[in-house]
Amino acid sequence: MIAFDLKCANGHCFEGWFEDSDAYEEQKKKGLIACPVCNDTAISKALSTFAIKKSARPSKEVVEHQAALTEVRNKLFDFINKNFDDVGSDFTKEALKIHYGVGEKRNIRGITTSGEDELLKEEGVDIIKIPTPLKPDLDS
Ligand SMILES: [Zn+2]
Repeated sequence: MIAFDLKCANGHCFEGWFEDSDAYEEQKKKGLIACPVCNDTAISKALSTFAIKKSARPSKEVVEHQAALTEVRNKLFDFINKNFDDVGSDFTKEALKIHYGVGEKRNIRGITTSGEDELLKEEGVDIIKIPTPLKPDLDS
């Protein structure tokens, strides 16, 4: 099954489930897809987000996998917290200082903007970007 984010002519967004994208085109052409809010059948796909899943509820494997990932992520952040100096928004400044041997050589972590990322790349500084930890949303 494929889920498409759909939008009616009045701007209501809703999710539609289809066998495949051909089934979506077919049903749309026949006017079988109607907005659940206003019954409008002038439906279009809202951007390109879609998902494929086998069942509405995540399977045991998926839940276990996510739990394992969360654990790995927590360990990673724990390690980073203990071993990397938090320099916050001074990251770029500090990284450049260390790069040019002006600052104390050490592991640092902090925040960069995309402009700063470019600058660091141009200067040849290796950095790794990690998404900030999110709370696992499995406790529902
Ligand atoms: Zn609508």
